[in-house]
Amino acid sequence: MSGYEIPLFDLPKPPAPVRRRVESVLPGLSRLHQDREPSGRDEPGEAPAPERPAAPPPAAAPAPNRPSGGRDPQELLEGLNPSQREAVEHAGSPLLIVAGAGSGKTRVLTHRIAYLLGERGVHPGEVLAITFTNKAAAEMRERVEALIGPRARMMWVSTFHSACVRILRREHEHLGLPSSFTIYDADDSRRLMAQVARDLDLDVKRHPPRGLLAAVSALKNELIDHESARDGAESEREALIAEVYGSYQNRLIASRALDFDDLIMTTVNLFQAFPAVAESYRRRFRHVLVDEYQDTNHAQYVLVRELVGRSKAAPGRREAAEGEAVPPAELCVVGDADQSIYAFRGATIRNILEFEADYPDAKTILLEQNYRSTQTILSAANAVIERNRGRKPKNLWTDSGQGESIVGYVADSEHDEAAFVANEVDRLTDESLAKPGDVAVFYRTNAQSRAFEECFIRVGLPYRVVGGVRFYERKEVKDVLAYLRALVNPDDSVSLKRVINVPKRGIGDRAEAMLDALATRERISFGAAVDRAAEAYGLAARSLKAVQGFAALMADLREKVAEGVGPSEVLEAILERTGYLSELQESTDPQDESRAENLQELVAVAHEYEGTEGSEGVTGFLERVALVADADQLPDGGEGMITLMTLHTAKGLEFPVVFLTGLEEGVFPHTRALGNVQELEEERRLAYVGITRARQRLYFSRAVLRSAWGAPSYNPQSRFVEEVPAELINWEREAPAPSSTAFGTQTPALTASAAKFRRPGFKSLGAGGREPISVAAGDRVVHDTYGLGTVVAVEGRTGEHATVDFGSEGVRKLVLAFAPLTKL
Ligand code: ATP
Ligand code: MG
Repeated sequence: MSGYEIPLFDLPKPPAPVRRRVESVLPGLSRLHQDREPSGRDEPGEAPAPERPAAPPPAAAPAPNRPSGGRDPQELLEGLNPSQREAVEHAGSPLLIVAGAGSGKTRVLTHRIAYLLGERGVHPGEVLAITFTNKAAAEMRERVEALIGPRARMMWVSTFHSACVRILRREHEHLGLPSSFTIYDADDSRRLMAQVARDLDLDVKRHPPRGLLAAVSALKNELIDHESARDGAESEREALIAEVYGSYQNRLIASRALDFDDLIMTTVNLFQAFPAVAESYRRRFRHVLVDEYQDTNHAQYVLVRELVGRSKAAPGRREAAEGEAVPPAELCVVGDADQSIYAFRGATIRNILEFEADYPDAKTILLEQNYRSTQTILSAANAVIERNRGRKPKNLWTDSGQGESIVGYVADSEHDEAAFVANEVDRLTDESLAKPGDVAVFYRTNAQSRAFEECFIRVGLPYRVVGGVRFYERKEVKDVLAYLRALVNPDDSVSLKRVINVPKRGIGDRAEAMLDALATRERISFGAAVDRAAEAYGLAARSLKAVQGFAALMADLREKVAEGVGPSEVLEAILERTGYLSELQESTDPQDESRAENLQELVAVAHEYEGTEGSEGVTGFLERVALVADADQLPDGGEGMITLMTLHTAKGLEFPVVFLTGLEEGVFPHTRALGNVQELEEERRLAYVGITRARQRLYFSRAVLRSAWGAPSYNPQSRFVEEVPAELINWEREAPAPSSTAFGTQTPALTASAAKFRRPGFKSLGAGGREPISVAAGDRVVHDTYGLGTVVAVEGRTGEHATVDFGSEGVRKLVLAFAPLTKL
């Protein structure tokens, strides 16, 4: 996958492939680009960069509804049914489109924007469209660009988070923030929270930072600040969370940083505290459109309300209220309550269910025709979602015919399940029924991708994993970006601490603690303490020298930034002067080669960014990068490859062929949900999302024995399968008869399809008493628990220990005689 792409939001056009420039950017490193394997999420560099051309010039864009020269409204409305048309043409009061999956909600939004600009004379700068996927954003932009040309760039198409960042960067002075404030991603926030927990002397077993962070995040999504949390605390736990929240927030402020939740909350606060600022945005955005509205949380809901300028207190008014110069903007939201899958992130379908109450003059349009799926798929989806209580019944229909039956398959193990999928894709390809690029494999949790990856690698099927370890989450990339952030924002303590001893320069934990103490004593930031290290108590002479060297290095690099050179040049200077690159280049660890390559890629991305219109130097670059982590990562490229992704990532997408895998109680639905009605209903909505992604063919599969997570588990069939009428499913293989189940020692007979992919080495997986394997540095291996890895080094006179890098599972030293390891 190409998770290192700059997101499409707000960019004038999709970035051209980054690789072209590589040689000019870092000469001497380009050889590292050779020998790529065609797949793998472990190495984003391995996946061929999508050789995606820049957006075609408007004249060449194959937009079906593009009026040729003149503006024929009929053409803008072409390909829409009457309800969809009504939604596109509706003017004035707020508009809510609630409809089931595949009924054209996103299509309506796209057409509506085109219609606003083409037919109603709306200026592109007056439009704010909130989408959740790059794909939808790109499509909207493309369509509008085809219609009105480059002016389309003035339109804001973005996620909530990027829209807020843009606003906050412009209005930072009102908030006492520097324009170079840092955005902390989930990992940074966790580091900060860990420091808070340490400060407060919390037992990390009882209060893991991740849990504290989730609690604080939930409060922020409800727009509750830490003082209110403290005042409202009703239990010891709530009081503790409030204290943690306050301390966490102080640290964020001291670091001049905002976390993701702050982006929304701070923007809301800005609008509420400075009505004139809010008004200026209301004046600007006369049309606000929101896709996937069911997944907005309370903070986002209020943000929309502030932007549109319509409140419950003054329902139905068409004129501006007293003291408010601007009448409300036109609001159009589309969503499906049955697809709300982010309750755990504070999204609340209340927003949809009560839209009509909050906006009494709102118009609601229902869309009932599904254009995506066959009747069989639709019937299955309906049967499942009907089990949820308290939902509005829907009457979704399609005229695309019954279609194929759902194919069911019960595999013996997750490896057999993967082999079944691979075999089926082969068959569909052989019979010209589908191509690998038409196929998506969905699973409930990221860890499940491994069995599929192992199998697809072995049989040579091209695939990409969406949402695995992402480029910007890699250590080396985060390290170098931390340098960049610390240069721009000297108070950013998380970033500074991350790099103060990377590469190693003799500044240990003790020295860091002394600097921390100095910062506390003098009430200065950690960064300022670094600059005044001579005043720190108890710093050994050698450490002091090292800190001063680091401070001088940073000062030097900061001068470069002050000179206004672009981010790529600053990055190159960082790589060189810190010694980061030479350390990687001199290393014999093969992983370091790909690390150097990733950094090279980062420089190229920065270079690319500088070439885009409206680029804003180092700060602008960091902003783009920070938001990538929040964006969906579905690359535009990857045609011809099977797509592997979690069900959560699949929202809004569609594929001709869909495999819903791991349909087992305890897997999907997730164990956590088993005893909880609300959580089960959320899982069921996830099942509904999964099923409705399929256009023509749908597969249900499960494994009788699943061993990938350490202890083997035997899970019964998922209730979601039981909920689908039996006549819709054609079982290609059913559960083995009790006498021959995997509960016994005998191996159940393999079906011909699964056997086709069995190789001798593969069979030993999970079995005891295997032959010790012999490996060499650079070999690709599979471990029963850690999954895919690359051998980094082999030690011992006869090669009995191997150090293996398992990517996100870490680097591990293994005894070859005992490790459940298979060489690929
Ligand atoms: P989801 O709830 O999954 O986000 P959605 O309601 O947004 O779905 P779209 O993705 O907009 O649905 O549309 C589903 C498919 O149906 C798309 O391929 C779209 O192009 C097609 N489609 C929508 N409306 C029509 C129409 N009137 N005629 C032909 N095809 C249509
Ligand atoms: Mg949609």
